[in-house]
Amino acid sequence: MEPNDVLDLFRKSGALLEGHFRLTSGLHSERYLQSALVLQYPDLAERLGRALADRTRHLQPTAVLSPALGGIVIGQEVGRSLGVRALFAERQDGALTLRRGFTLGAADRVLVVEDVITTGGSTMETARVAEGAGAHVLGAAAIVDRGAVPAQMQLPLQALVRLEVPTYQPDACPLCAQGLPVVKPGSRV
Ligand SMILES: [Zn+2]
Repeated sequence: MEPNDVLDLFRKSGALLEGHFRLTSGLHSERYLQSALVLQYPDLAERLGRALADRTRHLQPTAVLSPALGGIVIGQEVGRSLGVRALFAERQDGALTLRRGFTLGAADRVLVVEDVITTGGSTMETARVAEGAGAHVLGAAAIVDRGAVPAQMQLPLQALVRLEVPTYQPDACPLCAQGLPVVKPGSRV
């Protein structure tokens, strides 16, 4: 799957909007990314998962680990395609942890899978959960890389597409300066 194919799926499902948006953070952007909107279609989630699996199969993972909630759906699909377990880590008292009886051990070769990597922070935190359980972390995979810096991540990263989503303070927003009306994503136009 080529980067443009991925972006087409995102656009057609409304998971990638282009225009002038006010994000939940209050910042403005010319792009809005909400991967849950593409992953709500199981056939599309399966295709994206298969594409990530094809890029990471050579690493020979024995398990996929994703951070909840955003990584769960794509993690499941990557695990399905690789034929390995798909686990997720979730927050308890602010820290990502394995719950629900999920276990990893020294025999596990773990691939961290997320929908979108922004700074790599949650990726590294998820990797540390696996390492803390004694597993070996092979690398990370995401549908969209929003600009993670692999040197900071200290992990090899595979992404189907790299897409920057620049954000602006409202008083420094070039789109506002052009007089373009700003919309809140999700509101019907
Ligand atoms: Zn603006």
